Amino acid sequence: MIKDKVPEDICYGCGACVIACPQNALRLEINEKGFLVPQLVGKCSHCDLCENVCPVLNPPKKTNNVVDIFAARSRSKRLRLIASSGGVASSLSLAFIKNYGSVIGVTFSKEYALVYHKVARIPQETVDFVGSKYVQSISTWALQRVKASNSENRYYLFFGTPCQVAGVRNLVEKGIIRSKIILVDLFCHGVASYKLWWAYINWLRKRIGAILFIEQRFKLYDWHRYCVRAIGSRDLYLREHNKDPFMFLFLNNYFLRGPCFRCPFRALNSVADLRLGDFWGPLYAKDKLGVSLILVLSEKARQLLVNTHDILLESQPLSESLIKHSQLMSIEKPKDYDIVLKELVDTMDLEHLMRSRFSWKIVKTRIRSLLRHILYLGKNVLEVPLSK
Ligand SMILES: Cc1cc2nc3c(=O)[nH]c(=O)nc-3n(C[C@H](O)[C@H](O)[C@H](O)COP(=O)(O)OP(=O)(O)OC[C@H]3O[C@@H](n4cnc5c(N)ncnc54)[C@H](O)[C@@H]3O)c2cc1C
Ligand code: SF4
Ligand code: SF4
Ligand code: SF4
Repeated sequence: MIKDKVPEDICYGCGACVIACPQNALRLEINEKGFLVPQLVGKCSHCDLCENVCPVLNPPKKTNNVVDIFAARSRSKRLRLIASSGGVASSLSLAFIKNYGSVIGVTFSKEYALVYHKVARIPQETVDFVGSKYVQSISTWALQRVKASNSENRYYLFFGTPCQVAGVRNLVEKGIIRSKIILVDLFCHGVASYKLWWAYINWLRKRIGAILFIEQRFKLYDWHRYCVRAIGSRDLYLREHNKDPFMFLFLNNYFLRGPCFRCPFRALNSVADLRLGDFWGPLYAKDKLGVSLILVLSEKARQLLVNTHDILLESQPLSESLIKHSQLMSIEKPKDYDIVLKELVDTMDLEHLMRSRFSWKIVKTRIRSLLRHILYLGKNVLEVPLSK
C-alpha cells in the first residue's frame, strides 16, 4: 500500500493516489508538520492502483521537449496588474473557456485557511485563480469531479505545481481520467507548510481583524518590488515582500516541503504541455506591470497559445542563463530548518519566532535587496509611476 512505499518525507502530496483508489480508501490530510499527505480512511483491496499512478514511484517519462520559448504579456493591463507576472494564466484560461471547456485553477477558501483546486466553467469563475498562492493546494476535490464526469468529450486546462501535474499526467496515462487535459505547470520555488500559513493568518488577524482578502504579489510600486496586501475587517495590511514574515521565510526556504529541496522538475524538467513563470533577469528589469516566461512543450499547447489572441508574445532564444533568472536547478535547505519548523509547530507564535531568530537576517536581506535595486534594476524603476 502507498503509505508503506512512499514515506511522508518524500511524498509530493499531489493526490494522484487518492483519485486512483477505486475503494475511496484514501484522503489527503494535513500532517503535524503542515504538509498534505494521503491517509488510509477506508478498506484497502490491495489493487496497487495508487502505487501505479504515484509520481514518486513512477515518474512520468519526459516526452515533451521545449518547442518554443516566449516572453509574454496579457494585452489587458488590468489583468497584468492583478496577476503575479504577465497575466498570461488568466488570458489562457479565458480563451480556453471560450473555445474548448473548463479550467481547473487554484483559489483560497473563504476564511483563507486552505488553498484548493476548483473547476471553473464560466469566465467569472476564473477571477479567484488570479495570483500565486504560495501554500500547497488541495487538488483532489476538483479532480474527483473530473473523474466523476469522466468523458472523452470533455476538455480541461489544469494549472498546478510540476509535481501535481506529474500526478495528473499519470492518471491520464493509466486511463483513470479519460477527459482531455492540457497541463500547465509553473517554475516552482516550492510550497510552504500550512503550519506557517496558519500561524501567519493568526498573526494577521491580530492586526487587521477577520481576513477578507489577501494578495501575495500586489504590485504597489511595480512587479519587482511587490508587496503583500491583506484587507481585514478592522484595517489594511501592506508590506513589501521582504518585510512580510510569510514571504521572508518562504523565499529563504524555511517551511518548504521536503521534496522541494531535491525536486526533479526544476528549470526545463517539465512533464506538462506548457510551463509559466516570471521573466526575471535584466531583459525586462524596467517593466512595471510584469512579464511571464512561457515554455511551450507540446503541439497542443502551441495551438492553445495561437488561439489566445489576448497574449502578446516575443520569441526568445533558449539559454541556460535565461532560465536561471527564473529558477535555479536546486535550492539549499537552511541549516536550522528542522529547529525552526519544530519551534513554530510547537508554539504557533510567529511574532516570537521572527524576533528571536530572524532580526539580523531581515536587516541583511533588506540591505541586499536595496543594493540589487540600485545596481541591477536601475534608478528609474522606482521613479516612473505605475500609471505610465
Ligand atoms: C507555489 C508557487 C511557486 C512559484 N515559484 C516560482 C519561481 O520560483 N520562479 C518563477 O519564475 N515563477 C514561480 N511561480 C510562478 C509565478 O509566480 C506565476 O504564477 C506565473 O508566472 C504565472 O503568472 P501569471 O501572471 O501568468 O498568472 P497569475 O494570475 O499569477 O496566475 C497564477 C496561476 O497559478 C495557479 N496557482 C496559484 N497558486 C497555485 C498553487 N499554490 N499551486 C498551483 N497552482 C497555483 C492559479 O490557478 C493560476 O492559474 C510560482 C508559482 C507558485 C504558485
Ligand atoms: S491498493 Fe488499491 S484499494 Fe488499496 S489504497 Fe491503493 S488504490 Fe486503494
Ligand atoms: S501519489 Fe502523490 S500524494 Fe500519493 S503518495 Fe505519491 S506523491 Fe504522495
Ligand atoms: S518544488 Fe518540486 S516538489 Fe516542491 S512543490 Fe514544486 S514541483 Fe513539487
